[in-house]
Amino acid sequence: MKVGIVETPGVLKLAEREIPKVKNADDVLVKVKRVGICGSDIHILHGKNPFAVYPRVWGHEFVGEVADTGAGVKSVKEGDRIVVEPITYCGNCYACLQGRPNVCVDVKVFGVHRDGGCADYVVVPETNVHILPEGLSWDEAALIEPFTIGAQACYRGNVQQGDYVLVMGAGTIGLTAASMAKLYGGTVIVSDLVDEKLNYAKSRGADYVINSGKEDLFKRVAEISGGMGPNVTIDAVCIKKTFEDAVLITSTAGRVVELSFNETPSEIAPVNIIKKEISVCGSRLQTKRFPVVIDFIKTGKLSLAGFVSKVYPVSQMVEAFEYIEKNNASVRKVLISFE
Ligand code: MN
Repeated sequence: MKVGIVETPGVLKLAEREIPKVKNADDVLVKVKRVGICGSDIHILHGKNPFAVYPRVWGHEFVGEVADTGAGVKSVKEGDRIVVEPITYCGNCYACLQGRPNVCVDVKVFGVHRDGGCADYVVVPETNVHILPEGLSWDEAALIEPFTIGAQACYRGNVQQGDYVLVMGAGTIGLTAASMAKLYGGTVIVSDLVDEKLNYAKSRGADYVINSGKEDLFKRVAEISGGMGPNVTIDAVCIKKTFEDAVLITSTAGRVVELSFNETPSEIAPVNIIKKEISVCGSRLQTKRFPVVIDFIKTGKLSLAGFVSKVYPVSQMVEAFEYIEKNNASVRKVLISFE
């Protein structure tokens, strides 16, 4: 079978591997149909993910059809259309016992710590598969995982009905966070430096968009929120300035959610967190968000139409990565097809 591997940092190519077999009672063999390319896959390609071990079959956003099951598998059968939840965890550490296995001390992400979904076939544990809503196309199904990341950011920021939610950054993750915040009843403000991205955010239901390169972000947000500031700020940019701005702009009793592994420190005085009693938290991967996103799709509340920028056959995998790197300002999601 064909797999897409990052052989060493900078070297992306197709390789031949044996089709994996069901070995354990809870194994599910998946015939992959689509795998999405994530910003984190690009980081792995460039050697910028500290957890990646090479060579690595990349891909954590994948969907497909059940091709075989172990003797103990009960929840799915051959032919079922599924999406894979791409993490495994120990189940015994503090985070796992707190119901937060996404930050398990031994968390393993498909396509990062272990081989991922850019392959004709992948074996995954039964607990990692979720049945797709009927009628959902493969292209749309591949967007479920990215939307769980946006859902997690809202969950961590405790977005409530009526909250003003500022999403900094209208890239893929910012857009998913904005969509989910809207579904939770927020008034959603999206900021970015690129009008094209902001226009798309608006078309997806953002209530207000602000080009923070052209307008004063603090002034505009104050106008919109009656001087209060956003109750939740989701920082999907995560540079020195956006983290600082997020803390300063957020309302009293508000929440700030950070979403990246950027290592550049910000200058934040404790007083700015304490006087407003702000909660600052991180949001990593997701926990229990697949059923939430799938339910929003089933009930017709979450539309995924138009979110996929382009689909490439696996034979053009390298071109797909090049396309993203050349069109960074306008690309939302590029998929690889195995059909
Ligand atoms: Mn992703």
